[in-house]
Amino acid sequence: MNLTSKLPNTGTTIFTTMARMARECEALNLSQGVPDFDPPAALVRAVQASFAGAANQYAPMPGAQPLLEAVADNLHRRFALRLDPQEEITVTPGATEALFCAINALVGRDDEVIVFDPAYDCYEPAVTLAGGVVRHVPLAAPEFAVDWDHVRATINARTRMIIINSPHNPTGTVLAQDDLNQLAELTRDSRILVLSDEVYEYMVYDGRSHLSLLSHPELRERGLAVSSFGKTLHATGWKVGYLVAPPALTAEFRKVHQFCQFSVINPVQLGLAQFLRDHPEHLTELPAFFQARRDRLAELLGDGPLRLIPSSGTYFQMVDYRHLSGVSDVELAEHLTRAAGVATIPISVFYAPEARQHGLRLCFAKDDATLIEAAQRLNRIEQYLPDAA
Ligand code: PMP
Ligand code: GLN
Repeated sequence: MNLTSKLPNTGTTIFTTMARMARECEALNLSQGVPDFDPPAALVRAVQASFAGAANQYAPMPGAQPLLEAVADNLHRRFALRLDPQEEITVTPGATEALFCAINALVGRDDEVIVFDPAYDCYEPAVTLAGGVVRHVPLAAPEFAVDWDHVRATINARTRMIIINSPHNPTGTVLAQDDLNQLAELTRDSRILVLSDEVYEYMVYDGRSHLSLLSHPELRERGLAVSSFGKTLHATGWKVGYLVAPPALTAEFRKVHQFCQFSVINPVQLGLAQFLRDHPEHLTELPAFFQARRDRLAELLGDGPLRLIPSSGTYFQMVDYRHLSGVSDVELAEHLTRAAGVATIPISVFYAPEARQHGLRLCFAKDDATLIEAAQRLNRIEQYLPDAA
């Protein structure tokens, strides 16, 4: 069959590839962003009770009412926002679907979308399928800060959307108030929408707070914010998240969402609502919970040969090895999985076109024994380096 691919340059995601390789090699898996601990027991019990009750038919399309209300209450607590759950919040099957549907609902043919490199992998294919064009703006090492002058120079009449991601995967940087103010100034009186990927919103460290798009009154009017319960409740396998946007944007978003997914698994939604009502402390304790792991990994790698890029958020730590070897990070990540039994993610896959980089991303949402063993092996990295190609 003569098949013309709509995504000719897209392969299987690096997360799938590395997670599979880690399993095959029985390697310690610091690659895909998944915790190796369970969701809270009270949450599992609440979901189990919902499955056993009378909640096993379709949820309403926007989301189960108790969950919409629990999310609205949480946003009120955090940002003093009074949102209409029916008009401004939509429960989605993970952040991935929310991002995909938002892009497909709002980006038209030949519209331009600004994405910051390195960027999470699901943005560009969604823009391409929508008929839009991605404009890449680099975040420069070692700070990986946004160069707003570069953004200004990239904006033109076709610019439809800017995608931001804070805390940022894979670098661990977080946006500051000044970043949001500059973004507001650049988009003022324009047709540009802001899509804000905030799945790591509770993983912000060193006493800083997460600056959500929703905390900025001007950006909130032209923005869509995406969250993931998978990340905040250590339940990535459940694939439940939500999108918050003003009514007019929500209405457009739902036109696509209703035919992509329609509604999200109802018993899980009800269990999540119960847990969020009963255990608000879970969310407030998350920064300290993950900061302890970040600090632990940094301490374990501290005297070793890898250079750590400071991580202010997410559950990822980036390390640089260019002073040790010129081998490409894709080759090194594969080699380390086989030879050292530690799986990581090469940074270059977050760049387009895939650029040669010398960085690895390590996920520290792991138990202490795994972090200790992985760090010991990574500290011996010089034994494992292949010859540079
Ligand atoms: N955005 C970023 C930056 C991510 O790292 C991930 C991975 N979880 C997602 C979106 C997708 O989240 P979900 O699993 O809820 O679809
Ligand atoms: N977000 C996860 C990561 O960055 C991967 C999710 C996935 O495998 N699609 O590791």
